[in-house]
Parts: sequence; structure tokens; C-alpha cells
Amino acid sequence: MKAARLSVGILAAVAVALLPGAASAAPNPALRRPPPPIGLQTVDHPPADGINFFDNGPRTGSAIALTFDADMTQGMLQQLRSGAVPSWYNRAVVDLLRQEHVPATLFLTGLWAAAYPQEAKSLAADPLFEIGSHTYDHAAFRTPCYGLGRAPDRAAEITQAQGAITATAGIQPKLLRFPGDCYDRTDVALARELGLTVISGDVRAGDGFNFSAPSIAQTVVARIQPGSIVVLHLHGGRSAPMTAPALRLVIEAARARGFGFAKVGDLLGLNPPPPAKPDPREILQKLRRPDLRAPITLSGRPRREGPLLPPQRRVVRASAFCSLAMQVVCWVCDWATRCGRQATLSSLT
Ligand SMILES: [Zn+2]
Repeated sequence: MKAARLSVGILAAVAVALLPGAASAAPNPALRRPPPPIGLQTVDHPPADGINFFDNGPRTGSAIALTFDADMTQGMLQQLRSGAVPSWYNRAVVDLLRQEHVPATLFLTGLWAAAYPQEAKSLAADPLFEIGSHTYDHAAFRTPCYGLGRAPDRAAEITQAQGAITATAGIQPKLLRFPGDCYDRTDVALARELGLTVISGDVRAGDGFNFSAPSIAQTVVARIQPGSIVVLHLHGGRSAPMTAPALRLVIEAARARGFGFAKVGDLLGLNPPPPAKPDPREILQKLRRPDLRAPITLSGRPRREGPLLPPQRRVVRASAFCSLAMQVVCWVCDWATRCGRQATLSSLT
């Protein structure tokens, strides 16, 4: 059961984030190590259909997709505003991805985008990244879900996130990851109606409340295969403190095993191919080579129609022809006007 494979760290991260006043307490030594399992039940999502919702991409080739969820519950936002938590943005992760030129997909909650508008805008403007939605405030679509509160209005969770992300990042996400992966087919249908494709993942890094970078990296590297979608976190802080150092190990090990990295949309073939840029050298070459400028016959050979003029001389000839044609038109108009005036005078006299 997939739910059983979800990391204990994620459970604890969510539970602690929801505890009011948890952050305002003095640093607790117990938080320095992974907390014990919490007996929370969690629904499992249905098997992906590979059309409307995906766990992974094609098992061919060598590409995998690294994804990062930027969680932000109302409780996390409170902690940020009160100063109990210095940041819910793991900038080191983004710096490392940029430094290593590793493309990634970032699933932002609407609250996170609203809390970090400049960062959201910068990430969306970077072609290295693809922005997806992680709903508005990380409420559960199906419960039980790691202790998350249930979303009172599922559609609003999606549309409000779209609004917040569009207002800050300037783009409209096309991909959606449900909080805790707690969803069913009706939620997928709702997302589809609202223009979003649901993305889950087949490799959970378990970086939530995991204080061992090698352990996180080992989990990922042991499970990745072509087409894998790896789930990590972007909010950092005490909920995911070792994501960046683990990511460095993952990138190195994955590359050593021959894997490359792709954004989820590219991995799944959801993104339109970028328009081919015309090569200026090719255009110049065509202009210079008569055989490429000449029309092609059915036999495939260029049809010779006498010597071709260089482009500059063609332009001069064309403008001369236009000038002559305009003169002729003027003469005709002038003649017609004079004729008309003569006829009018004749009728008057
Ligand atoms: Zn999440």
C-alpha cells in the first residue's frame, strides 16, 4: 500500500506544523531527531491512469523528474508571521538546482506564493523551473490524511491557489499535486474540469523531518528508474531541514548512474515543444546560394530560370518597377480628371 510507504517524516511535519504554538516553544532537542511514528490513518489514492493523473513518466530513456512541494498551512503562515519560524523557503535547494542546471518542477501552495511573491515570480520566470499548484493552504481533499484538516470547498482550494499563484508568479499552473496525495477519482475529475493534470510520484524522498542527508539520498537513488517522479520539499525549515545536502548527493549519484533530469511536463510530454528558432546563418546561406534560392521541381532538382540577381539588386529593380507603375497610374488619373473637367465645362457652355 502506497500510504504505508509514505515517510514518517511527512506525517510529523504536517502534524507539528498544525500544532498551535508549537513553533513558539523553545528549540526542543526531540526535534533534532526523527519523531516516533504517529498513528494517523491515511487514505490511499487510486492507481494512476496515465492520462489525467500520473505517478511516473515513460519507463524508457534516462530522464527522471525532481519535484519540490512548497507546503504552507495556515498554521505555518502564523508561525512565519509571528517570527517563530524564520523562513519556509529553502533557498539553498533552488541555488543548487540553478548551479547544477538541473530542471525541476515546483508545486507551490497559494499561501506560499502569497508569502513569497518575489521568489514565486523569480522561480516562474526561470526557464529551468516549471510551476505547479499544491492547492491553496494544503488542506486535505480526502481524510484521514496525516492529520490535515479537510478542505471545506475543494474547488475553492484549487481556484484560490490558481489566483494566488497567477497574481504573484504571473503564470497559470497546469499541474496539480494534492496535499498528502490524499485524493480520489472525483478529485481528479474536478482538477481536470479546472484545467489541471494531477501529478503524484513514484519515489518519495522522505526528506520530511529527516536529519540525515545520506539516508534521504539513499532512499531516492535506490528507487529511481527511468520516468521516475521524485517527491521532495521546498519549504525547508525544521520540517525538511536536509533537503539541500541530500539533493547534492542525489544529483551526483543519479548522474553517475546515467540519469538526466527533466521537468514533469516535459517528462510526460504535456508541454508543447519549444518553437524552433530560425538559424540566421542558415538564412544567410540560403540567400547566398543560388541553388537554394531557386524553386524546386518535382524531380527534386532546382529549376534554373536564368541567372539570379543578388538580393540588393532585386530590391532596387522592384522599387524601380513600383515607381514606374505609380507614374503610369498618376498619368491615367490626371488624364481622367482633365477629361472630366472638360466634359463638365462643355455641359455648362
Ligand atoms: Zn505537501
